[in-house]
Amino acid sequence: MDTTPEFPALSIVKHPLVQHKMTLLRDRNTQTKIFKELVDEIAMFMAYEATADLTLEPVPVETPLETTAGWQVSGKKLTLVPILRAGLGMVEGILRLVPGARVGHIGLYRDHSTLEPVDYYFKVPGDAAERDFFVLDPMLATGGSAVSAVSSLKRAGATRIRFLCLVAAPQGVKRLTEAHPDVSIYCASLDRELNDQGYILPGLGDAGDRLFGTR
Ligand code: URA
Repeated sequence: MDTTPEFPALSIVKHPLVQHKMTLLRDRNTQTKIFKELVDEIAMFMAYEATADLTLEPVPVETPLETTAGWQVSGKKLTLVPILRAGLGMVEGILRLVPGARVGHIGLYRDHSTLEPVDYYFKVPGDAAERDFFVLDPMLATGGSAVSAVSSLKRAGATRIRFLCLVAAPQGVKRLTEAHPDVSIYCASLDRELNDQGYILPGLGDAGDRLFGTR
């Protein structure tokens, strides 16, 4: 994984398979079915990296021959929180890696007058203070939704939150880091900039539309 001096909270997953799949994902000719499969696969790799510092506790295990010392991830079940709707595309891939994870949901829309995100749906498991949360959104663009989602989780009591995206814009990373310096951010690419409509350049277009075929 790479870090950058400008954004110490950001880790960029540079695994060759991730970078290969990211190139296919960006390609405008990649159709919905393959796009969905790629998001799913890349999300799984991202989760592998983003779970590398989970704490373990010792646990005895009986092999067919004897009892030995093993390890298990300590604490309550991990909790995935996709931001609707594009974040949904990342859930299944991560669940293949962490099948016991719980799944919360955050729905946000942009208020036309203030241009700020407003929660329209929020549901996460109880005992938030004792859980590790993984907020999922393929695109970290302006950072508005990310900041709002993390703020909502913190209001619900969450203290350990990671943010997983595929493509990040510098503006989004800056805004999320300034608002929530305790949140580690993982992406597969830190892209150049945002355009006037808030799309990431070079980016991959509208992730939700490409995932659900609504273009
Ligand atoms: N959301 C997207 O789906 N794509 C972008 O480029 C920016 C935000």
